[in-house]
Amino acid sequence: MPMKEACGVAAIATREKAASYLRLILNGVQHRGQEAAGIAFFDEEKKKIEHIKGLGLVESVFSGIDLETICACNGIGHVYYTINLSTPGNAQPHLIRTTEGDLAIAHNGIITNSAKLRDDLMRRGHVYSAAATEEESMAYLLAEGFKESGSIIKALKHLARQVEGSYALVMMFEDRVFALRDPLGLKPLCIGKMQNGGGYAVASESTGLDIMGAELIRDVAPGEAVELTADGFKSHVIADEKHKGYCFFEHVYFARSDSIMDGREVYESRKRIGWRLSKEHPVEADVVVPVPDSGRAHAYGFSLGSGIKIEEGLMKNRYVTRTFIMPTQKLRETSVRLKLNPVKGVIAGKRVVLVDDSIIRGTTMRKIVAMVRQAGAAEVHVRIGSPPVCAPCYLGIDMTDREQLIAGSRSVEEIRLEIGADSLGYISIGGLVEALGFDGKDLCLGCVTAEYPVNIPGEKHRHQKSIYNF
Ligand code: SF4
Repeated sequence: MPMKEACGVAAIATREKAASYLRLILNGVQHRGQEAAGIAFFDEEKKKIEHIKGLGLVESVFSGIDLETICACNGIGHVYYTINLSTPGNAQPHLIRTTEGDLAIAHNGIITNSAKLRDDLMRRGHVYSAAATEEESMAYLLAEGFKESGSIIKALKHLARQVEGSYALVMMFEDRVFALRDPLGLKPLCIGKMQNGGGYAVASESTGLDIMGAELIRDVAPGEAVELTADGFKSHVIADEKHKGYCFFEHVYFARSDSIMDGREVYESRKRIGWRLSKEHPVEADVVVPVPDSGRAHAYGFSLGSGIKIEEGLMKNRYVTRTFIMPTQKLRETSVRLKLNPVKGVIAGKRVVLVDDSIIRGTTMRKIVAMVRQAGAAEVHVRIGSPPVCAPCYLGIDMTDREQLIAGSRSVEEIRLEIGADSLGYISIGGLVEALGFDGKDLCLGCVTAEYPVNIPGEKHRHQKSIYNF
């Protein structure tokens, strides 16, 4: 099974040119996955679902295809990242023929009980492709639910009862468009209204709506399914959990800073984290330097809180993608030097505070600290906007191997020595929760607490006696 990491999804019900709009939305969530892109739409002339997908960025997948001429009002889309090398077969949406009709389906997330689901479904007579994807399991569950009840909403409930893990799902059943968010809200999903009564859309982040001038209405609630039409959307409660499990990492790193997610402006949250960090780990220094781009808002907050001026001391080559989501260690090693260059006039002779969102493997930070020293910094102090990432993520972010996490087996002091910094400070878990403005019980903090909001074999569930006071 390919392991999926961050992905972006899109869905639309409009009056014309659905394929072109989907391309725009996918551009707005491109940062969530850069290895493959695809759309599926109901072709009004052929009266069936068609799809276009391929490897690469949105613009390269759709270049040379005149999406404007496609006669479609409804559709879904997906951008994809996997830690395995991609093949076109991994690209979504998947078009799956079931006994109850054709389904197009795409999702962002990880189904934690996928092996058991697949075994059960195969025993019940469902036949899988060679790739045996999670989407096939979901499609077969939907077909079973629909066969029993004749209702897609009941079929979605049937799915939600059996699927465990994280998912933001978009789906077409013939020409009908649905979106569903997992009961904990681990993966983001929001709804927007197009201009001039043009229709309704769903995207992983509000940046996917902004790009086509749509107005953000609200987030899809955890456990909510919506059916989109050009005139509105119908909401259905599919599952209702007492506590949510919003992934804190979306707010700290993954989402674009200009997104509004679960009622929070991501940029402001990051600034508050930086401000809090400056109070928890004060330092005498001359300049705050953000690690671009993900550390920028945290660094502004640190500068505000500490009164130390901020300057752009590291310049980014914007044509190189983020190292965190490069598929192999070898690619990550070389791409650090490709992507950043110090501004010597800002750094030379100065006591520098480097601010970033997180340290995962430590590879990137070690190289950046060395680069800043080579540029003449008198001291290098590192401040980090997430607590030490000490445990794997099983829910859809590329941090599955505990041994690769620098904080998995090392103290903060050991990490400081390893990255070569003069001092190192991480925001505390309590400080992070307060800065994000959620009840801690409504966040997934699994990778920093080793307590997860879903059942993970061999790991602690957060409902067991927690050492954290949320
Ligand atoms: S374990 Fe960490 S990265 Fe994974 S969903 Fe939870 S908070 Fe997000």
